[in-house]
Amino acid sequence: MSSTAADSLAERLALLNERIQRACVDSGRSLEEITLIGVSKTKPAADVTAAHELGLHDFGENYLQEATGKIDALQGIAATWHYVGNIQSNKTKEVAKYFDWVHTVDRSKIGQRLSAQCPAGKTIQVLIQVNIDDDPNKGGCSSAQALDLTHQLMALPNLQIRGLMTILSKDSKPRDSYESVAQLFAQIAAALPAAQQAYWDTLSMGMTDDLEQAIAAGATHIRIGTALFGARG
Ligand SMILES: *Cc1c(COP(=O)(O)O)cnc(C)c1O
Repeated sequence: MSSTAADSLAERLALLNERIQRACVDSGRSLEEITLIGVSKTKPAADVTAAHELGLHDFGENYLQEATGKIDALQGIAATWHYVGNIQSNKTKEVAKYFDWVHTVDRSKIGQRLSAQCPAGKTIQVLIQVNIDDDPNKGGCSSAQALDLTHQLMALPNLQIRGLMTILSKDSKPRDSYESVAQLFAQIAAALPAAQQAYWDTLSMGMTDDLEQAIAAGATHIRIGTALFGARG
């Protein structure tokens, strides 16, 4: 990687961290509550290495084939990998092998397969994707299905069910939709036994264009591609 590219990554990260800090101040939240996931889809492994050297530990990928090559190439760095793409049921074995977190479980069959195919000794951290805007082009269960699905997934071994994830529809109002997800998250929390509530702690929402609204609504994990790695070609 050339030094100019590394410099601009450092600059983008500095600007991004300023945005996150300001959003935390504006919404009375503490910076420690927010995990920044660098979404590195379409970007080379060298970009991930450079971001890791700047202090980033969490990375997200959408496309399985691209991701597995990158993760294999980056065995040497201590990173946490988040799968944020659609999951087809014939791909669960690879997802279970390569990823620490899976953000996009939206039906029990996918959870059952991840659980059954989870490598020995591993626990996969799972988020339930909710289609909060009822967008036919987006994955995710409906809000009405989310509690049942949570109970079903929590009965499976090898998975820790941590919370909700959402991807907004293009014409959604981010603040309203993110607040709806946060409300659903709280409703589910209230319905869980105390032992399970302890792990129900994650709201994955917010991307480059709407991270402020997501943080204001209670996001714990924001998934940022463009603002960190630059525009995708
Ligand atoms: C691409 C992608 C992101 C990052 O999007 P940006 O707008 O580039 O920050 C976050 N989450 C998911 C699921 C994505 O597919």
